[in-house]
Amino acid sequence: MRRTRWNTRPCRPPGTRRRELFRRSFTTGLRDPAARVRESEWRCALRAVRDAVVECVSCGQQTMTEPGGNPPPRDCWGCGARLVLPPRLTVTAPPPRTERHIRLRRAARVRAHHLLPAPTRYDRSDAALVAALVEQPEKPGRFGLANRSRETWTGTRADGTVQKVEPGQAVPLRSGLDLGGGVRAVVRTR
Ligand SMILES: [Zn+2]
Repeated sequence: MRRTRWNTRPCRPPGTRRRELFRRSFTTGLRDPAARVRESEWRCALRAVRDAVVECVSCGQQTMTEPGGNPPPRDCWGCGARLVLPPRLTVTAPPPRTERHIRLRRAARVRAHHLLPAPTRYDRSDAALVAALVEQPEKPGRFGLANRSRETWTGTRADGTVQKVEPGQAVPLRSGLDLGGGVRAVVRTR
C-alpha cells in the first residue's frame, strides 16, 4: 500500500507552486519539451488546493485558501466575511520526505495518496480512506481523528504517555500521531 516509487519525482505542493507551474508552461516549457509541466505535477498542485478548501462559518460556502501553513487572511467570496481557518493536519511521509497539509473542515479525510511521496493515482473511494474527522459524541463541537486504516496508530498524550489507536478507534486532535510505516501526522492551529 505504501510502496515508494523512487523513479518518480516527489509531489511537493508549496503555496507558490501553481504560479511557478504556469510560468514554466508559458515560458521555457513552450520551447523546451524537457521543461514542460507534466500532468502529474498539475495533479499534485491542484490536489493541494483541494486539501485547502474550507467552509465559511457565516454562509457555508466553500472557499479556496492558500495551501500550506500560515496562509494570508482571505475573505469569503460569497458573503465577504473574514474566513476562520480550521486546524491544519500536516502528514509527513518518509524519505523522500514530503508534507501534505489538510485543512480539517467537517468533511476532511486523509486518503492513501496523502501518505505517498509520489502518488500515481488519487483514489477518493472508501477503500483509500486512512483517517476521517469525527465529532466526539459526548462532546458536541469537539473533534477527533478516526482511524479508518488497517494500521494501528501510536499517539502521544499531552503528558508524554503513549496510546495505541486501533483501526476503528478515534483520538482527540492532538499534536502528534504515528500512522505506521514511518508516516507522522501533526495538528497545527494555522
Ligand atoms: Zn461566507
